[in-house]
Amino acid sequence: MRTQRQVVDYSLKKRAVLRELLAGRVGTYDVCDASPYLKNAARFHGEPTEERCPICRSENLIHVHYIYGDELKQSAGQARTLAELPVLAMTLREFQVFVVEVCLGCDWNHLVEQFLLGRDGLAEGGSEQGAVGGVTATGAGPARERRREAQR
Ligand SMILES: [Zn+2]
Repeated sequence: MRTQRQVVDYSLKKRAVLRELLAGRVGTYDVCDASPYLKNAARFHGEPTEERCPICRSENLIHVHYIYGDELKQSAGQARTLAELPVLAMTLREFQVFVVEVCLGCDWNHLVEQFLLGRDGLAEGGSEQGAVGGVTATGAGPARERRREAQR
């Protein structure tokens, strides 16, 4: 998404949990504990993926996108479909998205990533924000700026 920034990737953490599980240091009970709310969110707002569940290997994972931010008011903390996010990103200045993967077969769930969306991230095309700090003038460009943020 165009305004996506400050991406935090949790795949290392996920691998660590799976290692612990393989080693028998945690049980499937501890990691397959999706709440009824999370599973409902997955059913009604989830984004199906091609990725198999790492635990039961019988269902594909579903990604649920939770949104947080002051501007959202009573919608904060709700799940949204992936298709709704770009619309919100053009309407609001900034909000946080948490992506959670869920398996409806065995209740496995884990945080995938988090990032910011919203118009504050639109620095392209010589808008007022694009000129801040002379980023465009130095030739670094907003695209590179975004990549740097993604690596943080
Ligand atoms: Zn599963």
